Amino acid sequence: MLIDTFGRVARDLRVSLTDRCNLRCAYCMPPEGLEWLPGDEVLTDDEVLRVIRIAVGLGVTEIRFTGGEPLLRRGLVDIVRRTAALEPRPHISLTTNGIGLARTAQALRDAGLDRVNVSLDTLDPEKFATLARRDRLCDVLAGLEAAAAAGLTPVKVNAVMMRGVNDEEAAPLLRWCLEHGYHLRFIEQMPLDAQHGWDRATMVSADEVLARLAESFSLVPVGAEERGSAPAEEWLVDGGPGRVGVIGSVTRPFCGTCDRVRLTADGQVRNCLFARDESDLRAALRSEASDEQLARLLEANLLAKRAGHGIDDPGFLQPVRPMSAIGG
Ligand code: SAM
Ligand code: SF4
Repeated sequence: MLIDTFGRVARDLRVSLTDRCNLRCAYCMPPEGLEWLPGDEVLTDDEVLRVIRIAVGLGVTEIRFTGGEPLLRRGLVDIVRRTAALEPRPHISLTTNGIGLARTAQALRDAGLDRVNVSLDTLDPEKFATLARRDRLCDVLAGLEAAAAAGLTPVKVNAVMMRGVNDEEAAPLLRWCLEHGYHLRFIEQMPLDAQHGWDRATMVSADEVLARLAESFSLVPVGAEERGSAPAEEWLVDGGPGRVGVIGSVTRPFCGTCDRVRLTADGQVRNCLFARDESDLRAALRSEASDEQLARLLEANLLAKRAGHGIDDPGFLQPVRPMSAIGG
């Protein structure tokens, strides 16, 4: 089992398949993009599958593929198919910006993908082009439709609010998601952008999003017992069955129930988005380590997991790796 010194058990492995992306969301990347990982540093499909298999053997039950933009990974459908063939079969999901999903949703579903989370921060094409620095809203909307049609349900939508950019859109975005049967979750912006532009003073907080939503909807909290280790707190909207989630990573941290562990595209294991240390699985994979040795490295990494992300600690330091290179 992957257990830490606070008794938390890791069941959810987030696998970043690439650090590359075709958008440049302002809360994530600078306009010019980043220096991408050299190809030979990125784990091969076989290496990724080997780590997933070992993690499943250690009790991981959920595999989420992410990035960067995971749809840019050439072997994605095959990676999903091979993951779905593992015993016991893990639940498989994907976090994506949706670009290209219109073409691949059915193939991913057929390969064994269970669900998708699509990131969508605005329904206004101009604001989208400002925020994501690419004029691709239509592709994202087509991707969402295709995901629902392929049965990758419930389709979840992730939205990050930025002050003065899209923070007026919380209620319209929720209305639109309810109409389309998508499950919307607002994520508080975290200090994980490559350009270090995060500012707590201007961050749109979970409370603020909820206050804006409450102007247009009646919201009733869903019991904490239903939440488990999920990062989102949930509210029933206008009596249900529609819901909205809020992931208050900064102001309402949920580290105490965290069950996540991450594998970066270049084969580093991270026990937290905000971890200062990584375990180099790639070096071990490429020096003929046994499955047993890889399992011990994973276990040791988890044992070093801290109690919390420490954003509020006076000595907090933003991790060197940005979100796009960790895997959100
Ligand atoms: N490219 C894919 C996407 O955008 O869904 C997957 C990777 S992205 C890093 C995963 C999630 O992290 C997205 O929902 C994105 O909105 C979110 N994200 C990125 N930077 C963030 C930040 N600084 N704070 C909070 N969420 C962030
Ligand atoms: Fe790309 Fe996702 Fe980062 Fe946006 S949030 S720049 S889509 S990795």
